[in-house]
Formats: sequence, structure tokens, C-alpha cells
Amino acid sequence: MMHLPRGDSLSFKEVDKKTEQVAKVLNGAGIKEGDRVSVHLSNKPETVIILLALQAVKAIAHCVNTRLSPEEIIYQVKDCSAALFISDSLELMNEVRSITKTLEVGHIFNSENHIFMSDNDQRSFEWDDTCSIMYTSGTTGKPKGVIQSYGNHYHSATASSIHLSIINQDCWYCAVPIFHVSGFSIIVRSLVTGCSFYLAETYNQEELCTLIQQEQVTIASVVTVMLLRFHEQWNLTTIPTTFKGFLVGGGPVPKWLLQELTEKGFNLFQTYGMTETCSQVVTLSPEKAATKIGSVGLPLLHTDIKIDKLDGSGVGEILVKGPTVTKGYWGLPEVTSNAFVNGWFKTGDIGYLDQDEFLYIKDRRSDLIISGGENIYPAEIESVLLAHPNVEQVAVIGVQSTEWGQSPSACIVLSDHVLDIRSVELDLIHLCHEKLASYKHPVHFHFMESLPMTSSMKIKRHELKALLESEQS
Ligand code: ATP
Ligand code: MG
Repeated sequence: MMHLPRGDSLSFKEVDKKTEQVAKVLNGAGIKEGDRVSVHLSNKPETVIILLALQAVKAIAHCVNTRLSPEEIIYQVKDCSAALFISDSLELMNEVRSITKTLEVGHIFNSENHIFMSDNDQRSFEWDDTCSIMYTSGTTGKPKGVIQSYGNHYHSATASSIHLSIINQDCWYCAVPIFHVSGFSIIVRSLVTGCSFYLAETYNQEELCTLIQQEQVTIASVVTVMLLRFHEQWNLTTIPTTFKGFLVGGGPVPKWLLQELTEKGFNLFQTYGMTETCSQVVTLSPEKAATKIGSVGLPLLHTDIKIDKLDGSGVGEILVKGPTVTKGYWGLPEVTSNAFVNGWFKTGDIGYLDQDEFLYIKDRRSDLIISGGENIYPAEIESVLLAHPNVEQVAVIGVQSTEWGQSPSACIVLSDHVLDIRSVELDLIHLCHEKLASYKHPVHFHFMESLPMTSSMKIKRHELKALLESEQS
């Protein structure tokens, strides 16, 4: 069952019927097995049906982030050589038309052009068949098209559902985009377990509180910014026992936020995963939230984690193996083979395991700063600087240093009302002296109007690095 705002809903049967109709329209448009079809749509029921119809015709869904610029979208459409581009933006379709065929979503659903192709009614897949391509956020460079198979999605859904004890009476709140694996995986979990999901186009604080209170939603996937809003404004009289909690991932979550919401009685499942692992691969159960604060937990069923140690301290690159791991990047065989070592996927993230095998994330490998032989994790310095009430955003970047090889440099966005920047700078220097070893002190504070961000609201560190290096030379 797919629940929608304003009390509407669609049963599995209704979804299936519409899926078949749309599959026929796709056939009519000449889409065949293995074709890539770009789906540029937000969290709407039509999007779910189109994604399922693409599976019915065995085409590959290229899930397009609707927040991207036309230039970024065109890059992806060309990169995966999509046979069709589906959107509700006529403006964008005009731009894409010179590269590939386009189809307006309204036309698909109003189409009388239903060509009957009975051999598509049977849906069976091989584990290895490609189901979707999702581009990574591009936090560390150009986005790469991650190939996700049916086996990847299925194993992710079963492992997640077992870990979170999902049954068919559950209803999953989905305001995270279905063009990302965080949202897409909710649809797959619903198909695999029979649970329903509530599809919200955008996160709405009041709506979520009402849905929890009225026991209509039993679990909610959120990212940190949604959880921050929830923490500031929640207005539940009680937390119903039917509410299993929040699945929170996609990036680091401040420890204080986890602690405060846990103390108020909310269950939080902190998770770690990425596009390449088809959603969560490591999750911290709420009962461990207090004793393992800061950890992202233990690997899910069938997933193995190990650390490729950088030094004697046990910290190193996180490697993942398991049935949810991608077979590679679209059209990038060399990048793909470099991303694996002996069958283990190199996540590019740095972390460590404690004595109970719980995983802790420190930072991304590409962000690590090595200064005079010491490893410096930008995230540690950033959390110290963020404690200053006038600091809105911060990114610590390694810049070249003739003396140390690299040194940390801080890019800072201050809140609007700050008049005396110098006095904030002195406070920050003082904070660093108080909290951090001297080799971790930023050599420069760059005060900026804004930081370059990806469409998933992650800082584009490689751009900042290039900027600081160009200023240095
Ligand atoms: P690109 O690969 O193009 O640089 P990206 O890695 O940001 O982009 P995603 O797959 O959307 O693209 O994000 C996954 C990454 O998000 C992980 O590799 C990790 O760096 C970060 N991440 C996910 N969950 C957590 C978490 N719980 N704590 C800290 N970081 C996390
Ligand atoms: Mg990545």
C-alpha cells in the first residue's frame, strides 16, 4: 500500500495495474530490455509507478536528482546514454531533446496509446541484472553512475527489514528522495515485506508529528537536517508505542542531537551506507545508542566490514563485502577495478572498530590531512569550530605546507549579524588552543559568504581545496 498526503492511497493491486499500463506505454515508446531511461521526477506516486514499469520492461532506471542544474543532468544523461528522458519540466525537456527522446509524465498517464505486449507480463529477474543507476553526490569529484542490481536491492531490503523488525503492518515515512537510494530502498522494502509507505514530496514537520501521533507511520527515514527540525519543533503529547523510530543516515549526526532525542524517548537507528552499497550496511540499534554513542553500529546480515589500517592505531579505510555492494561504475572499468581490493569495496571513508566490532566513522579518506607525519581528521577540528555560536558552517581543508607537507586551513561562514570578524577569529584561535593539539590548529581562517555545496547539501571540498591552492600559488 502506498499512502499519500490528503488521505489518498494506492493498494499493491492498483499500483500493479497502473504499472502494467505504463509498461505498455514504455513499450510503445520503443523502450526495450537494458535501455537506460532517465527519470527526472520528485516523490510522486507516478514516479513509483514509472520506476516499477521500467522493471516490468527490464529497462534500467537512471534516477535523476531533481535538484541538479540542467548542465549536471545533461552530463549524466549523456554518460549513461539514456534512450529516453521522463520529466515534468517542459523547460528541461527542451534542453535534453537534442541528446535523447523525451516523454512528459502527464502524457504517460493520459496515454491512450496502450500497445499490448503480453510477453512482458512475466516479471522475473536474475540477481545480476541491472535495476538502476544512481549517480554519487560528487562530494569528492565528478559524480559516478553506480550500477545497482536486483540482487543488490533485494538483499539490502531483506537485511534492513530483518534488522528493523519490519512487518506488513508497518508504514514507512518517505520524505527522502526516491531518486536517491535512501528513498528508493523504502519502495523495495515495501515490495519485499508487504509493509506500506507514506510518500511525502517534501519533509513536513507537522505532517510527520500527526502521522506518528495517529499511529499511521511506524518508522521514518530522515537525514540530519530533518532530525534537527524535528528536535526543535516536535509537538507530540506522547510517543505511541507503534512508532519504532528514526532511521538516520547519509552523513554524520551530532552526538548531542542523538543524546537529546534518545533521552526524550525516541528510538534512533543511526546508519552508515552509500549509493555503492545500495543503502545502509551498518546500523546502530537504539538499545546500544547510549553505550555506543558516536558509533554507526554493526554490519547488517550478509555484510562484512574490515579496516585497511593506515597506522598502528587501528584507524583506516573502511572496506565492505556483501551482496548489496555494486558491481561497479557505469562506463568506468578502471575506476571500478581501483575501487576494489580482493573483492572488498573500498568505501573511501576512514573509521575504526572498537573491541566489540562496532564501527566508528572518522572522515573521508580524501579529506585526511597528513601534517608532519600526523594524521589529522578535518571532522574533529570542524566540530570544535562549530561550537562557536557565530559559526554557521565550516570546512577544514589540507593545504600545502613546505614545512609540514600539509596543514589544516579553515573555511568559515559566519552568521549574518557578525560585525567584528577579527574578534570571532580570536575566539576560534582560543577554542583551538583549548581543545586541540597544536598540529591540528588551522593555519588560516578564511571567512566566506557561502561554501560550495552539492545538491545533497554536502560541501564540495575538492572545489574549496582548488580555491585555497590557487590563492596560495
Ligand atoms: P561521491 O562518492 O561522489 O564523493 P558521496 O560519497 O557523498 O559522493 P553518497 O553515496 O550519497 O555520495 O554518500 C555516501 C557517503 O556519505 C559515505 O561514503 C560517507 O562518507 C557519508 N556517510 C554516510 N553515512 C554516514 C554516517 N552515518 N556518518 C558519517 N558519514 C556518513
Ligand atoms: Mg562516495
